[in-house]
Amino acid sequence: MGKSLQTTHNTTAPSSGKSGLALRMLFLLGILLVMTTSFNPASNTHAATGAEIPTEGGTWTNPAISIVITPASNMPWFEASYTYDVNYAITRWAKSIIAYTDAYGSYYLRKLSFVTCVSGVNDTLCGTPDIRVQFIQSFGSESAGLGLTSLRIQQNSGIFVIPTTTTLAAYDPTNTTQLTDTDMFNIASHEFGHALGLNHATVSIADDGTFELMFLSYGQAVGNPRNSLEAPSTLDMYALSNVYDWLVNPSGFSGTGHFATVYSLPPGIAYGSVYPYSEQIQTLQDSINQLRLEILIVAVVAGFLLAVALVLGILLARKKPDQAQSVSWLIVGPPAPVEVCGYSEK
Ligand SMILES: [Zn+2]
Repeated sequence: MGKSLQTTHNTTAPSSGKSGLALRMLFLLGILLVMTTSFNPASNTHAATGAEIPTEGGTWTNPAISIVITPASNMPWFEASYTYDVNYAITRWAKSIIAYTDAYGSYYLRKLSFVTCVSGVNDTLCGTPDIRVQFIQSFGSESAGLGLTSLRIQQNSGIFVIPTTTTLAAYDPTNTTQLTDTDMFNIASHEFGHALGLNHATVSIADDGTFELMFLSYGQAVGNPRNSLEAPSTLDMYALSNVYDWLVNPSGFSGTGHFATVYSLPPGIAYGSVYPYSEQIQTLQDSINQLRLEILIVAVVAGFLLAVALVLGILLARKKPDQAQSVSWLIVGPPAPVEVCGYSEK
């Protein structure tokens, strides 16, 4: 069952500056992104060919991006493990970047580093964070969302304005089904994609049959224990490599970021999810184990058939002497009379 997310881009007034100069310099284009989920059926019938993803039109200018997670501790609806889920969702982006750059280049993306802190634990390490992550019980059926990321982009420079704020719901919009750790992980991964500068991809399923992380709706049913971890796609990574192409410059960011641009994969990059190596190995091990199980089943069946053949053989062998006798009787029976006559051709 699909859930579509509504995205609203609201242009907000720039924050009031104290001086005219500051006002001019800080003329901000406010972009409010509302990632919401309703229970409208999402179309899963998009053809993956021609998949596109627009960017938000903003970039961070320091490759070290800091994130502070504020757990909703002591709230009855909050699970302590959500903090871990969000932290892992963020660090896993870096792992996917490693796997992607190994395959398709854009090595400079590895300069991106994500420093996560937990409020009340070690948030002083993060100073003034670029991104703040907080939790809410439910967005409610009106906004119908699972996650929301609001960000602002400095006008004409394409630079994100601190802070970007991500809000994650613990319950679905009907406030009846609680997110599993996998759900929380997936929603946090999606929202972090927005915080990095990606908008929504146009397809829900990649060419390899996996979910497109940046599709506007969550492709899995909230609360289902069989849900799987999603990963950024090669399309997401390709767009990201364009947002952060300034990283190739040793002196870092200068000038302006790129305007919002729609990207599609160039030939040579297969469209699929980019799982970290550890998970690729796990998938491989799982398939090897599956293969082992199948070999074991074949071996057991073969052994059974061999045993049956052996038993039949023994039974036949026990019967054989009788048969052999009767046969030998036939053979040993009175020899056909050989007529020896005195008649010769000589
Ligand atoms: Zn979204």
